[in-house]
Parts: sequence; structure tokens; C-alpha cells
Amino acid sequence: MPLIVQKFGGTSLADSTKILAAARKAIRAQQNGNQVVMVVSAMGHNTDMLVELARELTDHPPAREMDMLLSTGEQVSVALMAMAIDSLGYQAISMTGAQIGIKTDSTHTKARIHSISTERMRKALDEGKIVIAAGFQGIDEHHNITTLGRGGSDTTAVALAAVLGADSCEIYTDVDGVYTTDPRVLPEARMVKQVSYDEMLELASLGAGVMHSRSIEFAKKFSAPIHVRNSFADIPGTMIVTDPEAPGQAVSGATLVKNEARVTVLGVPDRPGASLTIFSKIAAKNISVDMIVQNIGADAKADVSFTVFRDDLPATLQAVAEAAEELGAEGFTQDENVSKVSVVGLGMATQTGVAQKMFRALAENNVNILMITTSEIKISVLVSRDQGAPALRTVHRVFELDKEPPGASPSPRKNALSRSERRPSGDATAVVARLQGMEDLAVSDISLDDSQARVTIANVPDAPGLAAQVFEQIAEGGILVDMIVQSFGRDGRANLSFTVPQTALDKAVKLSQELAANLGCGPVTSCPRVAKLSVSGIGMRSHTGVAIRMFQALADAGINLDMINTSEVRVNVVVDGAAGPEALDRLQAAFADAQG
Ligand code: ASP
Ligand code: MG
Repeated sequence: MPLIVQKFGGTSLADSTKILAAARKAIRAQQNGNQVVMVVSAMGHNTDMLVELARELTDHPPAREMDMLLSTGEQVSVALMAMAIDSLGYQAISMTGAQIGIKTDSTHTKARIHSISTERMRKALDEGKIVIAAGFQGIDEHHNITTLGRGGSDTTAVALAAVLGADSCEIYTDVDGVYTTDPRVLPEARMVKQVSYDEMLELASLGAGVMHSRSIEFAKKFSAPIHVRNSFADIPGTMIVTDPEAPGQAVSGATLVKNEARVTVLGVPDRPGASLTIFSKIAAKNISVDMIVQNIGADAKADVSFTVFRDDLPATLQAVAEAAEELGAEGFTQDENVSKVSVVGLGMATQTGVAQKMFRALAENNVNILMITTSEIKISVLVSRDQGAPALRTVHRVFELDKEPPGASPSPRKNALSRSERRPSGDATAVVARLQGMEDLAVSDISLDDSQARVTIANVPDAPGLAAQVFEQIAEGGILVDMIVQSFGRDGRANLSFTVPQTALDKAVKLSQELAANLGCGPVTSCPRVAKLSVSGIGMRSHTGVAIRMFQALADAGINLDMINTSEVRVNVVVDGAAGPEALDRLQAAFADAQG
């Protein structure tokens, strides 16, 4: 019998009428011949209210007690939902995380799932009951109640869908689906019919906010199709699956992270291990860092810049002060009024001119770009906060995100995997074994690309339009640019580095020299052969340690880092070409335990 997981968020359960409406959806699914597992969040804003109650008593509630408190919200929901179904004349059974057997580690308020048992759910399903599972919660090895982090019911739903081999996982919420950007910021945002896991991972972390990132990680790992739907309107919604909405589309979404802060460590000795010192001190405080960029000066000193969420700035600065002292750096600067605007799309990995189009549009709207980083499927720029929303609108318009892309299939595709492939084997021990490592870091690939060269234009005036001009000229020369990094400027000037195929280096250097002469910047330096090392997998950002592990492995081998880029699904570093093979070996050894 097919099995459906249906998850209802707080707004879909805000009162008894809504609970009954959700109950009817589950009953309808059962009548259509499915076994049904419901996963429910706390009603309305109950979790926020509980947090507030705790705060009235203390600023530092013990984490264990916080979980004891917060888990009650979902317990109310499961019981009421079971009553609602019973009142409609159908059979249901509510279960807490512990009753299902959702085992987690002991990291209260942010626990990670270790394993899930399926027997009790299966038995109830086989008896014809609708199973109602409390989202967001689990139990550790000492029987303490744990929670999975705010928004964690999504993760519960996808994890249950994965272990049960569900045919579909429907996420009922108060929005119609996934949008090209946040419709509250840009009313012209378009709901997409389909989005790929990779795009969704980038979008979720970049602020699309529709779903908990970790739930997408699970779905990707188990190829579980997710269907986001509005509880209150009969709209098809969005499928989150392996493939994007339209194959040739370069950009499929844009995001704004409004409250970012920039930190620059000045005059860091440019030697192996310097970044490691900075970022390991920050990671020790469990802060995730983004947009790491270094600006190598002539005097073998680098300015290292990066961004963090603004709320993390005070703690970050403590770590930075220590690191700067230890490294003998000149000091550091910060700016807490910056925002990050990004465009995301699987298609950009194979198309030219995407970055240049973005930079040109921003220039025409007088937006100054403070920093740039790119990865295979994302281009991010840092701008001052007052330019954040206008910049988002600009990029949304230039990539025509308000229009359905040509080539989008009329109905969303399901995953390529057949149901039997998706369904974990019936052997209970095999399922558990597969789940044990479920939340562990999974590195799927470590690769070396040594086909590229690097060009750096120093002292580019930090003014609107410069990046656009540079990449237009390079694109006119027919050169495919891969990684782009613009450092945070000093004295109104920034360094712009990018990688190109080795065969195109001479031409790229010549064009850059012409540009440098025209724009009054320079010198232009280059490295004829660089090695780009990529560690890709799932959970790169939520496992703050990945970049650190990479930096550590390379520093131990005395390999200096030229360029760095981090994203949700990949960390890239560029080093001198001669060091490529050794760097690859070192990374393979460093991640030997995490390769799955
Ligand atoms: N009730 C929890 C929260 O508000 C979990 C969830 O809704 O997903 O964060
Ligand atoms: Mg929620």
C-alpha cells in the first residue's frame, strides 16, 4: 500500500477548525488508498510563547529543561489531532518522539537524529490507523527529551518519509509553495512548480525560509520527493526533487540576507595556517561563517574578510581579536550594516555571462558591490544594507524570475528513482544501519580541477560598475570565467581575482592589463596553473567544521590558500597548481571517515 507523510506547520493548526481541516486531509488521503503518517508542529505560535515564558524567568534556562518545555507544544497538537480524527469516525494514534523511537544525540535544543524505529508506526498503520507523530522532538540515550532546533518538524517529516520509504512527503504550510524570492520583500516573486534539492539548499540557507535546511539535506540523501502545499488553498504547490524547474535556466532564485555583518582582519601574514587560526577560533563558538575572501597584498600580508549573521558579530569579534593578536595581524574592521544578495541556479554551472549580467544590472542601479564570491550554482554580493532590497529587485528583474522559464515542464517531474529503489530494504537492521549515519557529515566527492589559471587585478577602484566592466570585457573575449572573488577594499580599492581555463590565460591577462590601464588600477598578476579543490556533500554549512578541516589538512602540508569559497553543498579552495595532487591526497585522508 502506498504511504504518505503529511506535515502540518503551526499556522495550519492554529485553532480547532484548522485542526479538523488538517484531519480531513489525512482521512481523504487514507480513503484514497494510502497509509498516512501525519507530523504536526505546535499550534500557532505556541513555541514562541513557551520561549517567552522561559525568558520571563531566566536568561539562561538549562537546555535540558528548555527541551522539556518546548516539546510540550507538539504533544498538545498530536493529542488534539488524534481526537479530531476520532471525532470524524476514523482511527488514529498519537505518538511522541520517544514513543516512535526517534533517537538523537544529547545536544539539547539542536539535537541530531541518530536512528528511528519503524515497528511501532508500521504496526499501527497496518491496523488501519492514521499515525500522528510529534514533530521536532526525540529522545537521547538517557531518555532525556531533545528537540531538533526551531523549525525542526520539517526534518522529522522528511526523516520519517525516508525511513518509511514514503511515496510522498507533503509539507502543508501557510504559503503556496517555494518562490523565486521572498514574496514579502518582492511582490513580483513567482511561485515555482519545481526546484532541485541543491537549489533549495542554497535558497533555504540564503533566507528563502520555507523549509528547515536540514530537512532538505535528508530529502536529497534519500531522494525523497517533497511536495510543499498551502493548507488553505487548493493549489498544486512546489515539488522539491533532483531536477530543476527548467533545464537550461541559468538562475532560478534570488535571495536577500538582510542582517549580515562584515569583518576584515587586516595585515594577516600570508602563510599556511593563517586562515585556520582565524576560522577555528570562530568555529569553536559554533558560528557559521560565509563569504570568506582574502586580499593578498604586495608585502606578503593579506586582508581576510568574511561575513557572519549580525547577531553573531559580538562573539565573532572576540574570537577575531584573539586570532589577530596570535597572528600578529594589524587589527580588524567591521561593518554591521551590510546585506548579502545572491542568485542561485543549477544552470549557471554550464553557462557564461551570468555574473556579468548581474554586476551590470547592479551598476546601472547604482549599487556598489562591497565583496563578491561565487560557487558553481551561486553568485553572492555584499552591499550596504540600505541597498539590499533594491539590489534584490534588480537581479530578480534582470533574470526575469517573475516569468515562467521556457522549457519548464507543464507538470512537475517526480524523482527518477523508482519507488522500490527509494524504499529502504525491509530488513530492520539494514534500515537502522543506514540511519545511524544519517545526520553525520556525508562528503560525496573530493575533487581536483587543475585545468585553470588565476588572474588578479589589484587596486580596482571600489565604485559601482567596475566588476561589470571587467567581466563584460572578459566575456567579450569569449573566456569562460569560473570562480570570482572580490575582496573587501582598503582605501577605496579592492582586489578582483578570477579563474579561467589555462588555455585562455594569455588572453585574459592581456584584456585585464588593458582594463587596468583604462581604469587606473593594477598591477595585474597571474598564476598560470592553479588547483581548485572541492569538497562537496551535504550539510557543509551546518557542519561548521568542514572548512576548518580543509584548512587544517592543507596547513599541515604547508600549502597556502589563494582563494576560498563556501556554500551549502561545497567548499572550494584554490592553491598553487604544483601543490594540487598533494592537496588532494591530504584532503582525501582528512575526510576518510566522512566519505559515504
Ligand atoms: N514548533 C517548533 C518551532 O516552532 C518546530 C516547528 O514548528 O517546526 O520551531
Ligand atoms: Mg515551522
